[in-house]
Amino acid sequence: MPELPEVETIRQGLARKILHKSIVAVEVRKKRMIFGRISDFIRSLRGVHIAGIDRVGKLLIFKLSQKDRYLLVHLKMTGQLIYQDKKTLIAGGHNFPKIEKLPNKYSHIIIKFRDGSHLYFNDLRQFGYARIVGEQEKNKIRAKFGLEPLSPEFTWVNFQKVFSAKKTKLKALLLNQQHLAGIGNIYADEICWSAKILPWRPAHKISPAELKNLFNSSKIILARAIARGGTTFSDYRTAEGRPGGYRRQLKVYGRHNLKCVRCGRLILKKKINGRGTHYCAHCQK
Ligand SMILES: [Zn+2]
Repeated sequence: MPELPEVETIRQGLARKILHKSIVAVEVRKKRMIFGRISDFIRSLRGVHIAGIDRVGKLLIFKLSQKDRYLLVHLKMTGQLIYQDKKTLIAGGHNFPKIEKLPNKYSHIIIKFRDGSHLYFNDLRQFGYARIVGEQEKNKIRAKFGLEPLSPEFTWVNFQKVFSAKKTKLKALLLNQQHLAGIGNIYADEICWSAKILPWRPAHKISPAELKNLFNSSKIILARAIARGGTTFSDYRTAEGRPGGYRRQLKVYGRHNLKCVRCGRLILKKKINGRGTHYCAHCQK
């Protein structure tokens, strides 16, 4: 599943391509990918343009030029957004089968712009969705997300509040979108390793000094991952069509039975709350 750095990479890539382009046609091939009626969905998009692209956690928020209208897109497990014009094909999302022709059988929503370019919402497993909402609904949905790491609210004081008095395991808390927005399995493991904290420790037992490390690690790791266009597995591509360059920077995720780059002992893996978790039993306490 694309996490915050991957979704932010798509956001930035699309912002360079589709802003202020007007939409001339919309096709919905799979009803389950949208909320509400297909005809309403199409009517909301046709004739308007994308005025801005925002993100909270893993959710993309397209501001439409029509007053009080937003298009929300969540890629979930296997969603992909692919932009294509005469010269370029740029794509973001996860686990790409090679894109040979567009649209293909995974293209469930197709948006056509006035200049002839297209935006395809492809999804192999169809857990992703697109929906049109008004300002009020958009704000309600936004409010369900916890602290967003790239926002000005991501401060040391607010970070501490997320962890205080919570008996939950650290990793479960990091993954809980209502507490922290956008962190998934890859970056949760990386952040815990970087902060030298074992991911199953109860959150309220983590000392202020350790928590400060966790706060700093979260900022640094997410920023570095975005700078490199996210993490690539199999055929993941950034919105610019390049493989995400952060994979080689991963210190624990996917490295079980390999040596810890900090202490040389083997990285171990076990399940925490059902999620495969990578850690170093020696340098994480
Ligand atoms: Zn180690």
